[in-house]
Amino acid sequence: MLVDIHTHRLSKLKNNSIYNLKWEELPHTLQSEKEGYFSLGFHPWQLNDFSETKLELLSSLLSDKRVLALGECGLDKNSNYPLHEQEVIFEKQILLAEEKQKALIIHCVGCFNEVLAMKKRLRPSQKWIIHGFRGKAQLAEQLLRAGCSLSFGEKFNETSLRLTPLEQLFVETDESPLPIEAIYARLAEARGCKSSEMNAGAQWLNSL
Ligand SMILES: [Zn+2]
Repeated sequence: MLVDIHTHRLSKLKNNSIYNLKWEELPHTLQSEKEGYFSLGFHPWQLNDFSETKLELLSSLLSDKRVLALGECGLDKNSNYPLHEQEVIFEKQILLAEEKQKALIIHCVGCFNEVLAMKKRLRPSQKWIIHGFRGKAQLAEQLLRAGCSLSFGEKFNETSLRLTPLEQLFVETDESPLPIEAIYARLAEARGCKSSEMNAGAQWLNSL
């Protein structure tokens, strides 16, 4: 099974994909969909979505077995919200993911030192997946050494892809209209392996 760990396209929702829910489509999307998995969180661009009431709602939704991950959440230097505010809300989500034992799908642009510092300080036990990773080899190595997983999509750095161990390598469509099989095929070609060898996503789903 070729697992798509992060998509924003509802049309891609299947039993091998994790659809990133939008706050405005709750609860009907979650109630109406019969197959597939979900993630939900507060994106650093849209922190106006955040409130303590919604954090409580998120906490209760994470008890739904189909909601596999909290995210996307994280830090972005291009966000309109001050970094300090982003860090406060990200930390609340990290702690909630720990409490509910869910993986984090992390959106990070230009704030990797801050993300790594939070990981070091909070010592989370749950999986941290850096989604849409396009960074260079040195950054990839740093994140992998810290225990993060990397998720690759349509655009990626080939050297980083090659050096990522298969057990820390995830695949996603994100906003891309391409089918997940096409993304796997591109990555497999660049990495010199078979699509089916990149099975960290499938193993993760099977382990839950
Ligand atoms: Zn995304």
